[in-house]
Amino acid sequence: MKIAILSRNAKLYSTRRLIEAAKQRGHEVRVIDALRCYMNITSNHPQVHYKGETLDGFDAIIPRIGASITFYGTAVLRQFEMMGVYPLNESVAISRSRDKLRSLQLLSRRGVGLPVTGFAHSPDDVNDLLQTVGGAPVVIKLLEGTQGVGVVLADTHSAAESVIQAFNGLKANILVQEFIKEARGADLRCFVIGGKVVASMKRQAKEGEFRSNLHQGGSASLVRITPEERAAAARAAKIMGLNVCGVDLLRSNHGPVVMEVNSSPGIEGIEMATQKDIAGQIITFIEKNAKPFHTKTRGKG
Ligand code: ADP
Repeated sequence: MKIAILSRNAKLYSTRRLIEAAKQRGHEVRVIDALRCYMNITSNHPQVHYKGETLDGFDAIIPRIGASITFYGTAVLRQFEMMGVYPLNESVAISRSRDKLRSLQLLSRRGVGLPVTGFAHSPDDVNDLLQTVGGAPVVIKLLEGTQGVGVVLADTHSAAESVIQAFNGLKANILVQEFIKEARGADLRCFVIGGKVVASMKRQAKEGEFRSNLHQGGSASLVRITPEERAAAARAAKIMGLNVCGVDLLRSNHGPVVMEVNSSPGIEGIEMATQKDIAGQIITFIEKNAKPFHTKTRGKG
């Protein structure tokens, strides 16, 4: 097969591993930087141009679209979909997953366990907002944050009020969430491929920190997840319409709760923690599923 990897940097661990795994299995592989692609979107013969050439003949495309280029990256991916190239994750599903509110609303509508969550922009009645999520302690999150930046634990009602007021001043969208204390600074990253959890790891925050992000000094280790956790992760992936994703769960008193579904999950941490060939499993999934014009949406909707 001829496989494209939509990635800005061929040197990143995840991209490197996907190239390696594809080559090992006898495929031709090429890394394409979405920001360098251009196209005539009105032509009835969709094409993608890249550095003066027309990109053609790809059987499958692996999107590794960073959060900062979601808009243009998914537009390029959509163009490939219109050309009939099989996307590992569809553009529509990626856009959906990048909107945290929309994701939580979709998951909640289908009864997936979530931390009790409120969202707001400029609430006039902060007390009422806090009450709707059960009161302090709460976790307050900037909607646009990643890697744990903009995630604050407010222990008391007055701390929560101050933080919400400060974020209000920034005119930012925020999430106010029940603090899952019983998770004790740990979360579970479940790596889903084709509706199944193929690997999972536990990330533990460093001493004195509640955020388990590796970028915040957290550490990863192997973990055995329960059938309930496995089912919750698989279900979240299905609802989001993602073939490959990382589902982050917290272990709460009321069962596993989904914190986030990531459509471009990093491969390094999970391969290191589990010693599994995740990149290889992704390529195998593509081998089994790639067919021309095999998307649900072909970029529509
Ligand atoms: P980001 O998307 O920036 O990584 P998250 O929402 O994943 O932000 O939060 C960062 C970390 O903070 C999580 O990995 C988790 O360890 C911790 N955390 C987030 N929300 C809660 C919560 N409601 N209760 C307890 N811990 C939480």
